[in-house]
Amino acid sequence: PVITRFAPSPTGFLHIGGARTALFNWLFARHHGGKFLLRIEDTDQARSTQAAIDAILDGMKWLGLDWHGHEYYQSQFAARHAEVAQELLARGQAYRCYMTQEELADQRAKAQAERRPFKVNSVWRDCSADAPTPDAPFVIRLKAPREGETVIEDRVQGRVAVQNSEIDDFILLRSDGTPTYMLAVVVDDHDMGVTHVIRGDDHLNNAFRQLGIIRAMGWPEPIYAHVPLIHGQDGAKMSKRHGATGVESYRDELGMLPEALSNYLLRLGWGHGDEEIISREDAIKWFDLDHVGRSPSRFDLKKLENLNGHYIREAANGRLAGLAAPRLAEALGREVSDDELALLAEAMEGLKPRAKNLNELADGAAFLFKTVPLDVDERAAALLEGQAPDLLALVHAALAALPDWTAEATERAVRGVSEAAGVKLGQVAQPLRAALTGRATSPGIFDVLVLLGRDESLARIADKMT
Ligand code: GLU
Repeated sequence: PVITRFAPSPTGFLHIGGARTALFNWLFARHHGGKFLLRIEDTDQARSTQAAIDAILDGMKWLGLDWHGHEYYQSQFAARHAEVAQELLARGQAYRCYMTQEELADQRAKAQAERRPFKVNSVWRDCSADAPTPDAPFVIRLKAPREGETVIEDRVQGRVAVQNSEIDDFILLRSDGTPTYMLAVVVDDHDMGVTHVIRGDDHLNNAFRQLGIIRAMGWPEPIYAHVPLIHGQDGAKMSKRHGATGVESYRDELGMLPEALSNYLLRLGWGHGDEEIISREDAIKWFDLDHVGRSPSRFDLKKLENLNGHYIREAANGRLAGLAAPRLAEALGREVSDDELALLAEAMEGLKPRAKNLNELADGAAFLFKTVPLDVDERAAALLEGQAPDLLALVHAALAALPDWTAEATERAVRGVSEAAGVKLGQVAQPLRAALTGRATSPGIFDVLVLLGRDESLARIADKMT
């Protein structure tokens, strides 16, 4: 059975690169009917915060990436990590190293002077002597192989090899008895039965070291898939200066729908022919490691926004109203009532073709909440000049005379005015839009009339006519 995991360190927020890693792991497990685990790597207690953990859990839930059972916290397994270090000692695969800070500093300085990469060379590796003093501090180091090479058949990177002479005797257990990331990740993956390690290619170098531990323990080796990182438009690794990097910014500030971000992240680094819009269902059906790209992909906010626009048009009106409401409430400085929420839902059909994000959606709905006298923006003000006030007076008269207030009836009335006045429909409809919404763009004008209702519509028109 396939078991994958996402193993974030909770030191910030959920980075979009991390979210994509989680998505790939989730999809791979689903595709194979396996399990997807979440392990919070909180061993760096000083840097791990509850806020960061919450941001990760929230972001994952928001993206619909549910994990099997409860999430694991790596710090809970510290005793087990130490136990494995002891076992490696017992097997002669690791050793206690009593090197002092001074000795290490000397080696480092020497390497620097000789312009070669520093690699620890401990006399304790092949030394049967006892501790220099009974209570001398020590670390436990892996007795890394020095001959030959370590090869990884990576499912994304292909065959990658490293000369073992380049891998040093890295630390497994620190002098205070705490495990290093290198040890903890290997023990946890083994104990949790992880079969496929899918993660960012910034971990490829670690994989060689981790394999050293796995082989020393005689454990089954996972299949590795190291996915290229996400880059910004300039080709450098995606960071703050390229724009938002946290999932919550895409949700809160940029107003993205989770299915849009998820679809975008999937396409960023994986492909299925020319398909751009891929449902979760199809993604589960199609996802594989063979079609994960080998080169970094560039983050393109425009593309994401276009996808978001697509998913907004597909989304249910009630859901969109619920998502737009808090944004409107913030702009209004007050709560949105239940009646207003219902009105908002009705307005969505006309608003959603124009919006690429939830902010635009809320902004487009703002006219519903305005009061007479309406403030108008510059473009709308221009539409209200010239003969517009006269035409609006005619429209007002025609609409006021209507026995019923429907999109069809109001359309007939407005068309009647334009024909009688001998002008194009737009010459009447545009000032009407400006008067009703204060904007030059809005949903279809007859839908706007219905949404606002007779009294409000007539009051807004009257305010801008002669
Ligand atoms: N905790 C590591 C990180 O957040 C990931 C470990 C792994 O995936 O093996 O970078």
